[in-house]
Amino acid sequence: MQVAVALSHAAILEESMRARDLLMEQNVALDLARREAETAVRARNDFLGVMNHEMRTPMHAVIALSSLLQESELTPEQRLMVETILKSSNLLATLINDVLDLSRLEDGSLQLDVGTFNLHALFREVLNLIKPIAAVKKLFVTLSLSSDLPEVAIGDEKRLMQILLNVVGNAVKFSKEGSVSVAAVAAKSESLIDPRAPEFFPVQSENHFYLRVQVKDTGSGINPQDIPKLFCKFAQNQELATKNSGGTGLGLAICKRFVNLMEGHIWIESEGVGKGSTAIFIVKLGIPGRLNESKLPFIPGLPANHMQMTFQGLKVLVMDDNGFSRMVTKTLLVHLGCDVTTIGSGDECLRVLTREHKVVIMDVSITGMNCYDVAVSVHEKFGKRYERPLIVALTGNTDQVTKENCMRVGMDGVILKPVSIDKMTSVLSELLEHRAVL
Ligand code: ADP
Repeated sequence: MQVAVALSHAAILEESMRARDLLMEQNVALDLARREAETAVRARNDFLGVMNHEMRTPMHAVIALSSLLQESELTPEQRLMVETILKSSNLLATLINDVLDLSRLEDGSLQLDVGTFNLHALFREVLNLIKPIAAVKKLFVTLSLSSDLPEVAIGDEKRLMQILLNVVGNAVKFSKEGSVSVAAVAAKSESLIDPRAPEFFPVQSENHFYLRVQVKDTGSGINPQDIPKLFCKFAQNQELATKNSGGTGLGLAICKRFVNLMEGHIWIESEGVGKGSTAIFIVKLGIPGRLNESKLPFIPGLPANHMQMTFQGLKVLVMDDNGFSRMVTKTLLVHLGCDVTTIGSGDECLRVLTREHKVVIMDVSITGMNCYDVAVSVHEKFGKRYERPLIVALTGNTDQVTKENCMRVGMDGVILKPVSIDKMTSVLSELLEHRAVL
């Protein structure tokens, strides 16, 4: 009997040792596969990062210089050509942003940049941007904000604006006549439960509310069976695809992912071709005062609120090791009335920079000199914060790490390439305005 027990124990022991060995082998294989996958994701991100930067730098030159050319005296024919160059390069810049956003959304590396913002102002801003295009097409655009819609909310303002611009932009783009109405309400979570979207669970909480936005147009409409496909990458309505809508079919795919990140839901309704469409999205936003606001970063005002600043005689130092790029930035600033000095190295920057310089713009590229060290040295050289020039990074890197690194070494702002005159004006105004109130 005892022998039989001992034998069966031995068998069990052997079995469990074999199982352990097998598990160890599997663990090693899994670990290897995980490491390979991580390396692949890193390689892809590095590639995208480099491509992103490398594409933005020439785009910067094209957009900056053609926006300058647009302000010069031109024959009607030349004006049309410059406008076409600008329009096409802006489209290309949007495409670069979209492709990058989408891949970062897909690999989970894109995170929302949450802050406090004026929700009503955001809607008005989007309408102001859209109205000139709608006016050309003689479309009537209306905005209705419900009385219970909080004025101030907590969320990712820029990404919410991107969703709204895409949806309202589509309503205008795909309508030849009639009207586009935008309506926003603070929705009760029970009213949001929809049997057609079982994966969307609205949850009531004291600190949050659900923003429900409905954009209705009287445009081309969509075949109901095509609607689900529109949220896939590179999707375009077959009826319209041949008519070159000027889009890439990435907008709604990106909106859907952003809406998901905001714990919401987006869909489109249409009774068919020629019968108009309604796009609806819901996102979860925070209510200020109920969350710990002290931890939130400083939120600059919307560009529309800027007092028009004058840059006449503003002494700016431009540091860039690429001569061509240096010339582009200088030309933009000189056009704005700035008194510009350019330099090509960090050492030179520290030698030349004086208190007279109000702003130093540094090109933060992937290779090249280490601007972070230069920024730290500028702080050391000038000591007290308000007596030193504002340090601004000019970069083609959209990743959060570059932005964080810039802020960590005490830079005051980051300008993303490509830069048009308008963008340079609004960024400089915002920075100088912010300093003025500090
Ligand atoms: P894009 O507009 O850049 O092509 P989107 O992802 O924003 O890309 O839209 C995908 C497609 O969905 C559009 O090409 C169009 O065919 C269709 N669509 C979106 N909104 C509307 C609308 N309001 N009316 C008609 N069709 C629309």
